[in-house]
Amino acid sequence: MERTYVMVKPDGVQRGLIGEIVRRFENKGLRLAAAKLMTVTPAQAERHYQEHVGKPFYPDLMKFITSGPVFAMVWEGDSAIALARKLIGKTDVTEAAPGTIRGDFALHTNRNLVHGSDSPESAEREIGIFFAPEELQ
Ligand code: ATP
Repeated sequence: MERTYVMVKPDGVQRGLIGEIVRRFENKGLRLAAAKLMTVTPAQAERHYQEHVGKPFYPDLMKFITSGPVFAMVWEGDSAIALARKLIGKTDVTEAAPGTIRGDFALHTNRNLVHGSDSPESAEREIGIFFAPEELQ
């Protein structure tokens, strides 16, 4: 059993895609363990995207992720991390296959709608950034 951190980013919330995205995870059979609408603080954004410090897109990424509410979630199930990444699709939207969330709805890589943890270590770290242990059901 695995847990993964999934976040509808500000562009997804603004475009009214929370329901669509949650539905895809529910249809797959993953279990929702926590969810909330929240605004990411600059401190949380820095921790979440620490591996991208210094990259050309980092300043825009910081500004974007803190620009409006996100829908933060924890999904649980066997291979939840890999399954969530499959449902979300490739980071580069030109590579994201139709049928994936990014493949179906995202036009630009820097506005790619949704985040999913890429490893068990990232999942644990990211869940800890956005949720207190007692928020997990
Ligand atoms: P996320 O962490 O948001 O799920 P990811 O794991 O698919 O995305 P990462 O490589 O961790 O991809 O990149 C984090 C985010 O940084 C991407 O989702 C995207 O918004 C932005 N990003 C990554 N690469 C680029 C790029 N080449 N140009 C613009 N933005 C980028």
